[in-house]
Amino acid sequence: MTKYLIKLGEISLKGLNRKSFQARLINNIKEKLLPLRADVKSQKGRLFLSTEDDDKQRIEKVLSTTFGIDGYAECRICKEKTEEALINAISEEIQNTSYDNTTFKAEVRREDKSFPLSSYQIACIAGGVVLDKYQSAKVSLRDPQRIIYIEVRSEIYIYSSSKKGSRGLPVGTSGKGISLLSGGIDSPVSSYLMARRGMKEELLYFHAYPYTTDKAKEKVITLAKTIAPYLQGTVLHIVSFTDLEIQIAKNGYENEKTLMLRAAMIKAADLLARKRRATCIITGEALSQVASQTQEAINFTSSFTDINIFRPLIGLEKQEIIDRAKQIGTYETSILPFADCCVLFSPKHPKTKPNRDKLTKSFESLELDKIIEEAVENRETIYIKANELD
Ligand code: ATP
Ligand code: MG
Repeated sequence: MTKYLIKLGEISLKGLNRKSFQARLINNIKEKLLPLRADVKSQKGRLFLSTEDDDKQRIEKVLSTTFGIDGYAECRICKEKTEEALINAISEEIQNTSYDNTTFKAEVRREDKSFPLSSYQIACIAGGVVLDKYQSAKVSLRDPQRIIYIEVRSEIYIYSSSKKGSRGLPVGTSGKGISLLSGGIDSPVSSYLMARRGMKEELLYFHAYPYTTDKAKEKVITLAKTIAPYLQGTVLHIVSFTDLEIQIAKNGYENEKTLMLRAAMIKAADLLARKRRATCIITGEALSQVASQTQEAINFTSSFTDINIFRPLIGLEKQEIIDRAKQIGTYETSILPFADCCVLFSPKHPKTKPNRDKLTKSFESLELDKIIEEAVENRETIYIKANELD
């Protein structure tokens, strides 16, 4: 039997609806572990996972990528709540890691107030067990190299190495959005960040074959699979924008073309959101990163939908985005050299302070509505499981 103790973060700050956040988290964990079966129970601010399976690598991949988990630890359970049983369990726990020349302390949580030993007494017992076995170990309450955790509940839980979780809120507790995913560095990070706030997401990629190659599309599929564990699985919609880009390239004003394309993307995302019952759009824009991301440009593109557009990267600088992309494993794919989308036009002097009314008129004169509708209607849909890359 493998057992894990799971620490909750922000969920434990929730008031009356904490139970529903917890229930969602338990569901998300179980769903991601399938076909492996596990029992997950909640007990006073913690979850306890037990499973007959001992595929620890898989269990820990699930726990480290599921939002709502602050930390987790494989733990030892001492069912018999006596001093002798406790001493035996602690001895077993410290057997495989040497405490020689190591500073340590014991941290005790005594949830079962009827347990006859006090927290202090339990800590002293643990200290004694360690010092008996490893004479050169030293207790340090301030800055120990190692901590043995002991939690007295309906049973006693003992663990000594806990790992960090991804924190955030369980996916599915903050509604659903359509996230615009390009092949770049930014948008996988923005999708990740909104999922961390509990949002369920479907992804939307605009392809312009043959101007953008199948390699570019493969790249986006790989990115989607890489973030899928965090998103609890997802759906990738691929919409062909070839006709639309040709239309803009032919009839648009040179320095407005990029913004025309941006506006069309938001219109298409808005349409898809309605079809898929999503209630917001997510993009990887950061303020003033490029000409189409100035305040004025964002104000113009935002006017093509009346649902929320979330831009979680808006206040980040590039290096912070890159660091996060490296951490979630998308960076190496993102920097592969296959151009996405805007290859048909990159004006030398794009508008940075566009006049909204003038641009709106330009957009209307291009008569793109029907092309956008058809492109969305004829999209390709790829279902991606949470563990697609395992
Ligand atoms: P990224 O690294 O995400 O590509 P970027 O700095 O290249 O970002 P832009 O190309 O201006 O920025 O795109 C801004 C945002 O618009 C992207 O983060 C993404 O959300 C969306 N976007 C851009 N191109 C596409 C595309 N081909 N398909 C889907 N969404 C796109
Ligand atoms: Mg891009």
